[in-house]
Amino acid sequence: MSDVPSKLYEESGKLKVTVKPGRLLEKVSKEALSDPEKFWSEQARNLVWSRQWDRVLEWNPPFARWFAGGLLNASVNCLDKHMNSETKNKAAIIWESETGESRTLTYFQLYRHVNKFANVLRNLGVRKDDRVTIYMPMVPELPVAMLACARIGATHSVVFSGFSSQALIDRINDAGSKVIVTADGGMRKGRLVDLKKVVDESIGSTPSVEHVVVFKRMGNEVRMGPKDLWWHEAVEKAAPYCEPEMVESTHPLYILYTSGTTGKPKGVMHGTGGYLTHLYSTAKWVFDYKKDDVFFCTADIGWVTGHSYIVYAPLMHGITEVMYDGAPDYPKPDRYWAVVEKHGATILYTTPTALRMYMKYGDAIPNSFDLSSLRLLGTVGEPINPEVWMWYYKTIGKEGCPIIDTWWQTETGGIMLGACTGIDMVPMKPGSATFPMPGVDAGVVDENGRPVSPGTKGYIVVRKPWPGMLLSLWGDDEKYKDTYWSKFDGVYYPGDYALVDHDGYLWLLGRADDVLKVAGHRLGTMELESAFVSHPAIAEAAVAGKPDPTKGEVIIAFLVTKEGISKSEALRKEIVEHIRKTVGPIAAPDELYFVGKLPKTRSGKIMRRLLKSIASGEKIGDITTLEDGAAIDEVRQAYEELKKVLG
Ligand code: ATP
Ligand code: MG
Repeated sequence: MSDVPSKLYEESGKLKVTVKPGRLLEKVSKEALSDPEKFWSEQARNLVWSRQWDRVLEWNPPFARWFAGGLLNASVNCLDKHMNSETKNKAAIIWESETGESRTLTYFQLYRHVNKFANVLRNLGVRKDDRVTIYMPMVPELPVAMLACARIGATHSVVFSGFSSQALIDRINDAGSKVIVTADGGMRKGRLVDLKKVVDESIGSTPSVEHVVVFKRMGNEVRMGPKDLWWHEAVEKAAPYCEPEMVESTHPLYILYTSGTTGKPKGVMHGTGGYLTHLYSTAKWVFDYKKDDVFFCTADIGWVTGHSYIVYAPLMHGITEVMYDGAPDYPKPDRYWAVVEKHGATILYTTPTALRMYMKYGDAIPNSFDLSSLRLLGTVGEPINPEVWMWYYKTIGKEGCPIIDTWWQTETGGIMLGACTGIDMVPMKPGSATFPMPGVDAGVVDENGRPVSPGTKGYIVVRKPWPGMLLSLWGDDEKYKDTYWSKFDGVYYPGDYALVDHDGYLWLLGRADDVLKVAGHRLGTMELESAFVSHPAIAEAAVAGKPDPTKGEVIIAFLVTKEGISKSEALRKEIVEHIRKTVGPIAAPDELYFVGKLPKTRSGKIMRRLLKSIASGEKIGDITTLEDGAAIDEVRQAYEELKKVLG
């Protein structure tokens, strides 16, 4: 393992791994890359089309049109398709609330709800190509609303229910939505989230909106204005069947704004046929769905993981899934484990940030649940620290479940890198996302776009179009070209650092814009943070650079300790020493702060640019996607206090 970036990864030697990639995977990937169009057209045949495509790919760089000429409908692929099979009466969604309430919907029931709601939208004048903003809590009616839009050819734009009015206004206006679908409220950590009030605050500033449909979730009192109507009343009057609108393969299925970790959120636009093909295949390869699987993806549907791997992929496959509406740690820090035990989840797909939170509370909590139903564990959203990987593997998977780290983005539509257990089991390496999906031509290049040698850090790129790729950014082709296609000629630039090791495994090393330059050395935030987290007292870490006249940049670290650890001067020294030893003296932080929490986006990612702004006294940019405003204050306060102490 000498080729991996630091001593940290020697940890991975603790796992008995052999280093030859699976033979079959190698073969499938090779064939796929030798003729990607042929390969993807075979995959597309897994979908239901009402008209076959004329051309597999029309590529006018950087715009790709997959399966042009083909006609299909996403809701038919998720629902109608199962109506003549044994899946019809199988559980589609098992919904669970934070208070432990459950509700189950079969495929037939979901089909009926979607048909009726599609008619509600049609009755409100929504037509093909219109946009509908969906601002709902994590209840089954959220996927119902999405699939109803898809059924009539409208483009949905789901806005995460944790956002407040300005973020909602910006997204409604950007999309020019005709209808908003919302609820009288949601529930988060025992408190009512008053969604309807936020919509009411927005409505004066969103001229395109003609109607607001309100789902009764909480039963609290809400003001019903002239544009408002109740979901249940409208549905009651709607006809039970809605003829699906067959749309072109390149028809925009949805717009989704990115999580805004690096700047202003971008309106990523996804098509239908290519996107669904990518999802169908990647879900089959990565999760290796079996008939009796109970798939538990903990994402919120407000983010792409929820769109792709709660709504579209599992339903196309006729899988039973758990949809959880609540925080991972409320009322107690045991909710995911309780849900796994209660519903017998076989696959868990979650985030490193949730795992770090659970790790902080120790092993006793997960050990008190029966997690034996689990057979596969996945992660997404951020690089997974090897330390956290090992914990997931041992404490949750009891060393019996593969851990699949999946790298992808809102823009890529579906998984791009990850182990394909459905094709062939490859040896695992803790912290590595392993290999590209078959048919995905990903690699790592240097500043000049040339492939780097094994073990050298570079930029991850995708060299050929893939079916799940975004159509463009909504209403902004220029920004689309500029953001993703201008750094390297004709190659997609995701903006993440990575390296390939001597066995061909890919390692993600954090965001390219998060890199620190200390005394001429380029240090990845991910590697540094993993080094902090590998200290037994530390639960979470975030590092940022601060301009320094001599070194260029110095490192400042913000650390969250595990439960019951006292934040002493001795600990501070010990941690600095730990970093010197594990990464090297160059990486020793100049400033180190203990904080109660880190500023994160609503999707759980650390907003490092904020830390950087605070440390260098700059203005803080767009923070509409920040999870908890209090976290910035806390970081700022810790910083100010230390400044005083240090003089
Ligand atoms: P914005 O683009 O607005 O800054 P964002 O990049 O956080 O927001 P997403 O599309 O939700 O929005 O996240 C994709 C990014 O998340 C990737 O580019 C990568 O930086 C990170 N990521 C996702 N999965 C992984 C993973 N398995 N390993 C490493 N990084 C990951
Ligand atoms: Mg991004």
